[in-house]
Amino acid sequence: MELEKWEEEAKSMVEIQVKRRTIKNSALLEAMAKLPRHLFVPEGLRNLAYADCALPIGEGQTISQPYIAAKMTELLDPRPGDKVLEIGTGSGYQAALLATMGCIVFTIERIAALAASAKKIFEELGLLDKIKINIGDGRLGWPEEAPFDCIIVTAAAPEIEKAWVDQLAEGGKLVLPLVVSFNVEQLVKITKTKGKLEQKHYDYCSFVPLLPGVKT
Ligand code: SAH
Repeated sequence: MELEKWEEEAKSMVEIQVKRRTIKNSALLEAMAKLPRHLFVPEGLRNLAYADCALPIGEGQTISQPYIAAKMTELLDPRPGDKVLEIGTGSGYQAALLATMGCIVFTIERIAALAASAKKIFEELGLLDKIKINIGDGRLGWPEEAPFDCIIVTAAAPEIEKAWVDQLAEGGKLVLPLVVSFNVEQLVKITKTKGKLEQKHYDYCSFVPLLPGVKT
């Protein structure tokens, strides 16, 4: 894809799919417009990289729809310099978006092949100094690097893992697609204030499931 062409596509993706659906965070909108989303999509699907949908990335996994990535990031409301934990690296797009917004990102993926291809893209984009990637079971979090200002889970979680809540900093935020009934998920934001948790529910959504263990 030619350079100018993708930049135009990214701009109109932000205008039509994100801004018009009331996402306002300007740092987020800027980061989405300048991040080459087509690099995170398999070559055969690159013409659809900026389309209004999730796309397959191999291994039975998907890159989230741009609006959903935006909505989760807006709910997370990260600040530059924040330490962010992501569960489910997948294509790497969400981690790269957070790093582009100035966050220090720790991302965990259970499928080694996906972790490897995401790492290559981070390198290509010069983001490796901002993103650490680990192959493992994200349900356990990343205790050695805790506490985190923000935690984002990008696979459908049947429950809120205690490890995530424990690894949240004071004032920290956790955003995840929580399974609320059979095959139905909802974006949920949990805020930890003085040790107390506040939970709010947002958009319905559809994610691949959070699975136990590691697949190499
Ligand atoms: N954030 C990704 C989308 C992720 S799709 C992006 O921007 O492209 C969900 C990912 O979560 C998949 O890659 C899947 O392999 C991973 N996953 C599922 N269960 C997991 C677990 N227990 N630990 C870590 N990663 C997991």
